[in-house]
Amino acid sequence: MEHIQCLIIGSGPAGYTASIYCARANVKVVQYAGILPGGQLTQTTTIENYPGFPDGVEGFDLMELMRKQAENVGGELRQGIVTKIDLSHRPFVATIDDKDQLEADAVIVATGASARYLGLPDEQKYAGMGVSACATCDGFFYRKKVVAVVGGGDTACEEASYLSHLAKKVYMIVRKPYLRASAAMQERVNAAENIEILYNTNTVGLFGDNGVEGAHLVRFKDTDKQEFYDIAIDGFFLAIGHTPNTAFLDGQVALDEQGYIKLPGTTQATSVEGVYAAGDVADPRYRQAVVAAGTGACAALDVEKFLANQRHA
Ligand code: NDP
Repeated sequence: MEHIQCLIIGSGPAGYTASIYCARANVKVVQYAGILPGGQLTQTTTIENYPGFPDGVEGFDLMELMRKQAENVGGELRQGIVTKIDLSHRPFVATIDDKDQLEADAVIVATGASARYLGLPDEQKYAGMGVSACATCDGFFYRKKVVAVVGGGDTACEEASYLSHLAKKVYMIVRKPYLRASAAMQERVNAAENIEILYNTNTVGLFGDNGVEGAHLVRFKDTDKQEFYDIAIDGFFLAIGHTPNTAFLDGQVALDEQGYIKLPGTTQATSVEGVYAAGDVADPRYRQAVVAAGTGACAALDVEKFLANQRHA
């Protein structure tokens, strides 16, 4: 079985930065790209808060730069998903795409988080037929059409604002009487003439014969003002937050109640010795690209120290 020193799982800013640091420290590192190569930033538009880019940078381009940088310093990136990992003894044994296996002395989990859905059966029914969790990926298909974005956070505002430049009209379906998004994002949404915010509103279902043609909504759910109504839409975009990608760990690493990896100390070390976590998978608080990159560097430095201690033990 192939044996490496450090396995990095995930290819967002955390994974690539960890790979850069490991490779530069002469740690034999292999990084698996995971479910969404390049991570969440490949699905966003211009990033204005990643330092070093005074005019902003496209999310996809930033991730390509990180990938090249990691490869230039000797990091090895492979396509594939770590479907299973045995952390009960060292070296750890990872299974890739349910078939190949490799052994690693240390692991950095940088699997990020995935878009959340409402859990309506219609989301499945219309998957790829009008339901999407990525406006920048699919917005193109809704030029001059009518779309809805669910959620009231920064992501929802960003998606709505992006779609407002393509679509004829954008509804935002917000369950509270206010937006949770930052003031800057709210301003951007309010400035768009073709965005209409439906406050106090939840989605009950979707309808349409050939793809999404509308949504069944309820206003003031479960109150005496409750009112059901429909809107005609061509696309339904989810922007209601993310779930950390920790299911493959199968309970071997301590998680918090939301499923994020717990970091019990002041380093990136998890509850399992030799296993480290970086980026959004262990960060329910900040969830920023620059923070993910920073914790990726920390995790790699932790691994370097761990491996050195093992050698001298
Ligand atoms: P958030 O958790 O901030 O917001 C989620 C939104 O979805 C909330 O309005 C929430 O409503 C709503 N929601 C959640 N579950 C449901 C449900 N079942 N039905 C209806 N609505 C629901 O997630 P975001 O993805 O927006 O942001 C995550 C983090 O990333 C934040 O820290 C954010 O600031 C950051 N971010 C920053 C950006 C930037 O600075 N450019 C861009 C995008 C994200 P409720 O308010 O009622 O809970």
